[in-house]
Order: sequence, then C-alpha cells, then structure tokens
Amino acid sequence: MSAEDDIRYFSYAAFIRQKLGGRVQKLSIDAGFTCPNRDGSKGSGGCTFCNNNAFSPSYCHGESQQVLREVKPISQQIDEGIRFHQWRYRKARRYLAYFQAYSNTYAPLEVLKQRYEEALNHPQVEGIIIGTRPDCVDEKIMDLLAQLAKQHYVMVEYGIESCYDQTLHRVRRGHDFAATRQAIRLTAEHGIACGGHLILGLPGESREEMLAEAEILNALPLESIKLHQLQVLKNTLLAGEVERGEIKIHSFTLTEYISLVCDFVEHLRNDIAIERFAGEVPPRYQALPDRAWRHEDGRYVRNEEIAPLVTQELQRRGTRQGYARQK
Ligand code: SF4
Repeated sequence: MSAEDDIRYFSYAAFIRQKLGGRVQKLSIDAGFTCPNRDGSKGSGGCTFCNNNAFSPSYCHGESQQVLREVKPISQQIDEGIRFHQWRYRKARRYLAYFQAYSNTYAPLEVLKQRYEEALNHPQVEGIIIGTRPDCVDEKIMDLLAQLAKQHYVMVEYGIESCYDQTLHRVRRGHDFAATRQAIRLTAEHGIACGGHLILGLPGESREEMLAEAEILNALPLESIKLHQLQVLKNTLLAGEVERGEIKIHSFTLTEYISLVCDFVEHLRNDIAIERFAGEVPPRYQALPDRAWRHEDGRYVRNEEIAPLVTQELQRRGTRQGYARQK
C-alpha cells in the first residue's frame, strides 16, 4: 500500500470486503413501514430533525402516490434500483437491500418476515441491512434475523443520533440511550452485525460532549458507524424551532467539521468501520441552504469529497483511527 492509499481509517468498503469477499452495492428500498414516533404510539410529530422524504430515493414510490406509505413491491424497487445505479456503478453485480425509510422492524413479525424474504429472494441480493430505532426490536425479531442470517448477510443499523438523554429528549426522539445500549447488545448476542448512525451538532451538545460519544460507543459491540452533520430540513419541527429563535444550532464551516470528525475518528475504536462522515440532502430540502458547504466557485461540496478531506487531515496530523486511544 502506498502512502497515498493509506486512508487512515477503517472504511466501510474494506469492512464489506472482509465480510462478503468483494464489492457489494447497497440499494435503498422503502418497505412501507411507519414509525412509532410519527404514528402516535411514541409521538406524532417525529424527531425534530426528521423529514423522511429527504432520503428516500424516487424509485421507491409510485408516480401518482401522495401517501408516502404506499410503496411499490420490493422486488420491483430492487430491479429499478439496480437500473438506476447502473450508470454509476457499472461493475456492481452483487447487492444488499437497504431497508432505509422509517423504522424497518416496526410491524408484526409475519409482515417483517415476508418483506425481508421478498428482498432476499431477489437473485442479485446477497443480504439485507435494516435501519430502525433502538426501541423497535425485541427477542422475537432478533430470532427471525438470526434465522435469516444463517444463509444471508444481515445487518441492523440503529439510529443512535446521540448518546445523551438530554439531547434525545430535546429532539423528541421518544427513547433514551439505555434503549440504544440494550438494542446493540441484543443484536450482537444474536450474532447479527450491528451498525449505528450518529448526528454531530445536535442542539445543546458541546464539542467535548460530541467527542466523548466516541468513547461511549467504543464500549458497545458496534461494527460500523455513519456520522452526519446536523442539517436543518424543510418541513421539520427543528426548522420551525430555529426560525422562531427557540433553539440555536451551530453551523460548522467545512474546516471546523473536518477537524471535529478527525478528532472523533482518532478516539474511535479502530475496528469500527466508518461508512460516512457527513450527510448530503438535496438543496431543495434544506431549510437553511445558505449554510450548506460550497466551493469558492459556488458549487456545493458533494458528500464524496468529504472522506478524502478527512484522510488528508489525518495524514497532515500524522494520526489515524484510534490514535488517541493508544496514547
Ligand atoms: S428519524 Fe426515524 S425515528 Fe425519528 S421520526 Fe424520523 S423515521 Fe421516525
């Protein structure tokens, strides 16, 4: 490996190569599930930052449908997703179906089984990744996933968002961090791979508190993580709170964010794969588009530009993932 190839962190691509022996492309699908923080069982307004439309690809929904939860059959979504991605990932032949929208373990067991199996029965799908809330899993769901994991790759990806109860309460998450700890442990005990999603920049959290989250997560049997900067999206409770001046959020400059992420990576266990460092939502969904990162010529900074910047900064520092834990 040349010095330029040394990206200084454990990439998700390397993790998937270890797990599945080669490149496998993720395909987002929307299985039509809902969310207990939206349907009234935990809450009705959702988490304050959530606008699910912002991250559901268009191929998941029928053209004339106004109701989001009416979705196309999963096998059709997978076929369309493969065609949709083919221009970009020409070499992709193997896929993981990513149950992304809303809470994908929030339905009766037989419905979950049917939806997961529909994806797994597609000839080009080798496994499933299930995004969900920590309070939407139990022993029975884990037993089902463990059964499926005997023949396929299965991973559960939890929306952790914050390790602090005060923050989780502030963003109306509807569960505490103890639920996250419990869900991650339950998943690992069933032999199922487990990832998480963490937001940096949630209201009220200091830089030190965000960095301390790396150590909190290090203590859990987590195999991968996605980091996102807080983005204020249109049609969210958060956008209203910011507009009315009820809440102050810190908008990172790109340089500040890269510095924070590099510090975080230095504190993170070096066997936790990092899938992404930042989120990217189409400008039409941004409530504060002026705060989006741009190049000097006005172009938006694209998500794929962030990882090389993290690598460059770690190389400049002479550090890497887990560096601060070895000192
Ligand atoms: S972020 Fe997830 S848990 Fe929160 S309201 Fe949206 S779908 Fe539900």
